[in-house]
Parts: sequence; C-alpha cells; structure tokens
Amino acid sequence: MNAMLISGTEVGKSIESRLKLEVDNLKQRTNKVPGLGVILVGDNPASKHYVANKERVAARVGVQSFEKLLPANSSMEDVEKAIVEFNKNDAIDGILLQLPVPAHLDSNKLLSLILPEKDSDGLHPVNQGLLAVGRPGIRPCTPLGALKLIDVALAPNSKGVNGDVPQADLSGKKAVVIGRSILVGKPVATLLLERNATVTIVHSRTKNIEAEVASADIVVAALGKAEFVKGSWIKPGAIVIDVGINKLADGKLVGDVDFEDASKKASAITPVPGGVGPMTVIMLIQNTVDNFKRKHGIKS
Ligand code: NAP
Repeated sequence: MNAMLISGTEVGKSIESRLKLEVDNLKQRTNKVPGLGVILVGDNPASKHYVANKERVAARVGVQSFEKLLPANSSMEDVEKAIVEFNKNDAIDGILLQLPVPAHLDSNKLLSLILPEKDSDGLHPVNQGLLAVGRPGIRPCTPLGALKLIDVALAPNSKGVNGDVPQADLSGKKAVVIGRSILVGKPVATLLLERNATVTIVHSRTKNIEAEVASADIVVAALGKAEFVKGSWIKPGAIVIDVGINKLADGKLVGDVDFEDASKKASAITPVPGGVGPMTVIMLIQNTVDNFKRKHGIKS
C-alpha cells in the first residue's frame, strides 16, 4: 500500500486563506484586528525559529503581533510582569509563552498567570480542565492540528476546501497515542475520545508498544524519539499522525515514525517536516481569532 500523504503545509495554507478573509471581515465590523502577544525568554535557536514563523503567519492573516523578548537570565518576576502587561493590553487577544523556558523558571506557574480567555495555546489549567470535562474552552494547538489532519485523511475529497473538512466521527476506530504529555499526548487522547474513538495511551512504562500499535486504526506518535515506530508495526490501512520532531546528527529532521516503511502499510501518513508542525502554528492563530470573536460577542 502506498499511503496518501497528508500535508499539514497544504491544509494549513487553506485554513490561513479562510482566516485571512475572516480577519478582513472582523476588521470591517469592529475597526480592530486580533492581537497575538508573544513572550520569548532566552535565545534558544529552535524557539526563535518557531516564534518568527508564528509571527510571519500571523502577519499574513492580518493578526497583529506584540513581542516581548527577555534575556535567558530573567527572573520569575520579569516574566510575570510581561504576562501581566499582556493580560492588561486590550489589543492582545492571545498570549503565547514560547516553551521551553529556561530551567530556573517555573513554566506551570507562568502559564497559570495568563488569563484563561487569552490563552491561545490552550495550556492554562482552566482550559485543560474544560477539555477534560468536555466543556467548551480553548484547546491546545498541536492536538487540534493533529485531529484536523485525521479529519482530512478520512475525507480526502474535502481536502483543500478552506481546511473546513467535516469533523470525523471515530466510532468503532481504535486509536493508539504514544506519549502522555500535557502538551500533546493527553489532550490528543481526550480529543480522540470526544470523537468516540476507543483510545489507548502508551508511554515509557508500557510493555509491548508494538502490539498496541499493531492493533490501531489511528496512530498518533508524540514521544520525541527518532523513527521509533517501525513500519512493520503499522496495521495495514491505518492513519499515522507523526507529531515528533527530531534532529539527526547530520541535521536532518525526522519524526517519531519510520516514514518510508510506514508509508508502505498506512492508508494515510503525515510527513516531518510539513505535517503537524504547520498545523500547530495555524491553530494558534485560529485560537487567537476565536478569542477576539468571543470578546466582541461575534458568533459567526
Ligand atoms: P515530552 O513532554 O517529552 O513527552 C514525551 C512522552 O513520550 C512522555 O509521555 C514519555 O513517557 C513518552 N515516551 C518517551 N520515550 C518513550 C518510549 N521509549 N516509549 C514510549 N513512550 C515514550 O514531549 P512532548 O512535548 O509531548 O513532545 C513529543 C514530541 O512531539 C517531541 O518530538 C516534540 O518535539 C514534538 N512536538 C511537536 C510539535 C509540533 O508542532 N509538530 C508540537 C509539540 C511537540 P513518560 O511520560 O512515561 O515519560
């Protein structure tokens, strides 16, 4: 079997076009545009790259970026002050604290300081709690993007229609999520459960992950180990969503799945790069636009 390639770059671009039209329309209605406040502590090259990319996409959509760059030796008080300023700034609808922050800072405490209604990353405990109890709230970006790519895989003919593919009902499908982080694994599993999938989470203490993966109709790999999932593990026809981003010694980026071999077994698979990564960015912008709409009482 030769898997269909699910391009997050392409799906992300079509969502970007829709959001651009939406922001133009919101500007006409309110005379304002949504604002994204980005806080970057230190000069980790990967974080700088991600932030620049998020700001580029925001600019293309018409979302205004506000940036606070803080030195790596910033104290908790310095970062807290930046968050509080952004919380108070009415032009900012979404706040992103780029992770990871330097090790001496308490990221959980900092994330909790962001106003839940401005939490574009969906990582505030209030939003995580709303997700856990199945109530409306801001959902984390990478899991939202992963689910959107599953929807595209299940409705390939809708692909490209402004990214507005129908939300798939996953009744009867078995999903295996590898990884249980707050950022990816747990929220992905909860979103899959909301769609009626039968969900198993595996992690570093799980025995025989291979057997679990072999029974899955949908595999979401989010463990951060280069090419950990072998093609031979994949059930024929499965959908494979590779969240992992790993840099090899030669600088090449690969996912958590052995892409070449898994492509021969899966019905659909995401590439790395160009899969979940671009979706994470566009979901951040979508969350920011949605926060703006909620603030202004705009439903459609
Ligand atoms: P994380 O916080 O390090 O969590 C990794 C998870 O994988 C943990 O639950 C861990 O289990 C599990 N794990 C580690 N080694 C394992 C093994 N050998 N077998 C089974 N499970 C194992 O990482 P994360 O933040 O969730 O990110 C995961 C990957 O996704 C990373 O490569 C990251 O760069 C990537 N990522 C990509 C995007 C994107 O936009 N594409 C966004 C976020 C993250 P324990 O809990 O038992 O330790």
